[in-house]
Amino acid sequence: MGQPKYKRVILKLSGEALAGVAGFGINPPVIKEMVKEIKDIHKLGIEIAIIVGGGNIWRGTTGAEMGMERAQADYMGMLATVMNSLALQDVLENEGVPTRVQTSIEMRQVAEPYIRRKAMRHLEKGRVVIFAGGTGNPYFSTDTTAALRAAEIGADVILMAKNNVDGVYSADPKKDANAVKFTELTHLDVISKGLQVMDSTASSLSMDNDIPLVVFNMNVPGNILRVIMGDEIGTTVRGNK
Ligand code: UDP
Repeated sequence: MGQPKYKRVILKLSGEALAGVAGFGINPPVIKEMVKEIKDIHKLGIEIAIIVGGGNIWRGTTGAEMGMERAQADYMGMLATVMNSLALQDVLENEGVPTRVQTSIEMRQVAEPYIRRKAMRHLEKGRVVIFAGGTGNPYFSTDTTAALRAAEIGADVILMAKNNVDGVYSADPKKDANAVKFTELTHLDVISKGLQVMDSTASSLSMDNDIPLVVFNMNVPGNILRVIMGDEIGTTVRGNK
């Protein structure tokens, strides 16, 4: 086996990745399968920070559509990411992977507050750091959190794990037979073509800070390791223009 392509990575998981086929709630056996994959790259000495969404429990926009105040609904979404982060921590620790959860919304009984320098120290010591609570601000997403934390901690790449989609397509491959998969894109392509990769705030933050992104299907066993080793699976988005 060659050398890993990346040393410090941000792994972005959607909340749905923790739910399995139900698409809702938290399913520990499903998390366990995913954790095995994370364990494989942890063994290689890769520094791993994880950001997990909350869509399996609550999305702010859903609450807003039902008449709630958007900011209030978004705070609920941020709390959902904390539940997911704790579930992920539990399974990782059961599998023998040392972890720390840091939240951007202070919650001292359950997790450390987010402290950038401390997070980097944990990574250097081989602990997987899970960033919970999103950015701590309404109107943002956990994709934006991934871009923000990647810039802050100097991550080499954001690994954008998708459920049953193997990259970025010109259109939804499930609906359009003519959809073509891109292997390489720039962040500007993503923004100007309106491609469904991340929200535009997350894309522009990644573009301005030149943070590469690899979008790949995490439902294929071994894919996280393949991306780490530099196999060209999925779609790579890079370049600051
Ligand atoms: N959220 C927020 N600010 C953030 C991150 C998340 O308000 O910085 C809220 C927002 O309501 C969002 C929810 O948390 O809908 C869950 O996050 P996200 O939708 O990114 O989760 P995913 O789609 O990845 O499961």
